[in-house]
Amino acid sequence: MTTLVHAALTFRRTVRGSYGLLTAFAVAALDFLGIFRVEPNALRLEHAAVAVAWAAVFGARLAARRKQFLRGERQDEGIAWIDLELGAMALVAAHAAVQVFGGLTGPLYPLVYAVVAFVAAFARQPVGAMLVVIALGLEAALYFGTEARAEIAPFATHAVFVAFFGVLNLLFTRAEIARVRDGARRALDHEREKLRHESRMFRLVSAPAAGGASDEERLFRSSVEEVHQQLYHVLQLLHRTLDLHTCVLLMRGDDEEQLRIVELVTDSEHVAEGPFGAGEGAVGAVVKRQSTMNLEHLRPGYKGLCYYDGPALVQAFLGVPIVENGQVRGVLCADRIADRPFTEKEEALLEGTIAHLLRALENERVFVQLERSKREQTILYRASQMLGAALDEEAVLDAGLQAAAEIAPYDFAAITLYDPSDRRHRVRRVTGKDADRFTALTFRDNTSLTAMAVKNRHYLPYRGEVDLQQQVVFTKRANLEGMKSLLILPLVVREDAIGTVALAAERPGVYDQMVRPTLQVLANQLAVSLSNAQAVRRLEQMATTDGLTGCLNKRAFLEELDRKLRSATRFGRQLSLIVTDIDHFKSVNDTYGHATGDVVIKELGAILQRAKRETDIVARFGGEEFCVLCEETDTEGALLLAERIREELKATTFRTELGKLNVTASLGVATYPHHADDSHALFEASDKALYAAKHSGRDNVQSA
Ligand code: GH3
Ligand code: MG
Ligand code: MG
Repeated sequence: MTTLVHAALTFRRTVRGSYGLLTAFAVAALDFLGIFRVEPNALRLEHAAVAVAWAAVFGARLAARRKQFLRGERQDEGIAWIDLELGAMALVAAHAAVQVFGGLTGPLYPLVYAVVAFVAAFARQPVGAMLVVIALGLEAALYFGTEARAEIAPFATHAVFVAFFGVLNLLFTRAEIARVRDGARRALDHEREKLRHESRMFRLVSAPAAGGASDEERLFRSSVEEVHQQLYHVLQLLHRTLDLHTCVLLMRGDDEEQLRIVELVTDSEHVAEGPFGAGEGAVGAVVKRQSTMNLEHLRPGYKGLCYYDGPALVQAFLGVPIVENGQVRGVLCADRIADRPFTEKEEALLEGTIAHLLRALENERVFVQLERSKREQTILYRASQMLGAALDEEAVLDAGLQAAAEIAPYDFAAITLYDPSDRRHRVRRVTGKDADRFTALTFRDNTSLTAMAVKNRHYLPYRGEVDLQQQVVFTKRANLEGMKSLLILPLVVREDAIGTVALAAERPGVYDQMVRPTLQVLANQLAVSLSNAQAVRRLEQMATTDGLTGCLNKRAFLEELDRKLRSATRFGRQLSLIVTDIDHFKSVNDTYGHATGDVVIKELGAILQRAKRETDIVARFGGEEFCVLCEETDTEGALLLAERIREELKATTFRTELGKLNVTASLGVATYPHHADDSHALFEASDKALYAAKHSGRDNVQSA
């Protein structure tokens, strides 16, 4: 029952979703049945009925497509069914109409070409191409089937034209879409470039990097807009109060000769776009002389004003240079049509305005600088919090790279550490492009940028730009690839560089002097956090290990024993303890000296470390006594291990100043839960076994 309902629902949904296609099929069927082929060529009632029904469905589907379009649904992949429906409906309708008026050789046939061209152009791909194929199939079926024609030539002609119109329009729309997209992209690039240029011109610190961080760009955009607004306001005021025709501010960039229109208020429709050569006409004269030009009684048609693209109608002109730090940065120009020369008072007004404009620029510069340092502080504050929260070395390294990403983008980042004892650099953390190639890479103190940065405690390369053909980041054999920007910052703690943080990006100019100081502050914080984490690790190590042998110390061993005993209890496993004691060690000390005694103790520690399995634990328990804790080991297994240890120590010959020395040891073994059910009892049992070994002549192993 449910399957029936389900099937019915699916059927309904399918029909509702594609009734356009069904209509197309129906009309095609009527085509083939010859309903539309009538003599004489005339519309009949049933044709009209089909036409109305078709139009209703077509209209409904067209509305649905429009809705899709308005909702912004995009068809990035797969087939746009609704386009197929509409295209197929248009094609069968065209053929029906052609049938009514004389068939495929009749006068209305070119309608098919028109429809093919239209649907091929407007359907989304790959439907356009599918529709061209459908058009060819439909015509073939009608031509050979319904009209029962045999000669191939007329059909072939039609087919060639249908294909031609279809493909032509397909290509045409493609090209058109590409052109529009290209245009939009170029407009955006142009907008960016203009923003960069104006930020530079207004000297808002320095321009945002190409494609740089977006909030950086926003900051500059708002500042540039702010400057424009102020400029416009001032020019408008001048325009109105001085009865000007045009009031224009022209400026030039730092290393530019040309002047550009920065802001303009005019009644003229003939203002040129620029840029203008700084030597041209009256404006050029202002720049060259660095002084105000006041021209009167200009004849109409005067060509000396570069900012008009035709003869100017103005009769009075006043140009005032904008001088900042002894350099002409631009010209403020005013002109008017009336033959009324600019008075001295007006000149003074314009010159006063320049001071105001310069102040507006200066304010904006300060604002940008403040905004930027505020942002830098926020980032660094967050970074130091992250670094502070990181407890061990690994967490510090992660936090460091994460914080670096907030300051400047990178495609590759690595942190290396330098070990002065073996003079090797080690890549400790690496992320980004090709990171796998550098994981755990170690290299000696070579001529790489990393090694130089550590040696000189100075960042490299100098401009943040790298030529990987010439420069080596880590090693020649494993060099970075495809990066244009690079910054290697030393991690300096007190006087020493303990390593580096290296950032690289495929885009050029990412690590300029704008971000470098911030990154260096981060690197310093990272260095301190890292050396703190290392110190903590060393302290922890000191607290748990024995200085002479590197084995665990007694306290750490007892903690381990408790842990292992608990898990042995939980999982019902055995746990064996071996205790060792060197025989007649007092006399070794007495005869050969304490130092030799220490060598013997150290060697026994090394023998134990070599003999134990991965999961076993070795500890120096005191003096010349050691313990070995063996997980999942019964008495028999522990006895074997103890015997091996005894034999190896016995076979070891120590060379001393007083000649060769051989020592032996006695060992005792006890097993949980056989011989004891807690740690204290386990110790007692193995101690007893050791005592038994001593009393049965030493140099042997006993179990409890
Ligand atoms: P036994 O065969 O009965 O074990 O005789 P022994 O002389 O080895 O006696 P015992 O184990 O009681 O002796 C411990 C001696 O080990 C005492 C001390 O001189 C020596 N000793 C303890 N700690 C150290 C150490 O750190 N270095 C050196 N060189 N000797 C140590
Ligand atoms: Mg002892
Ligand atoms: Mg001893």
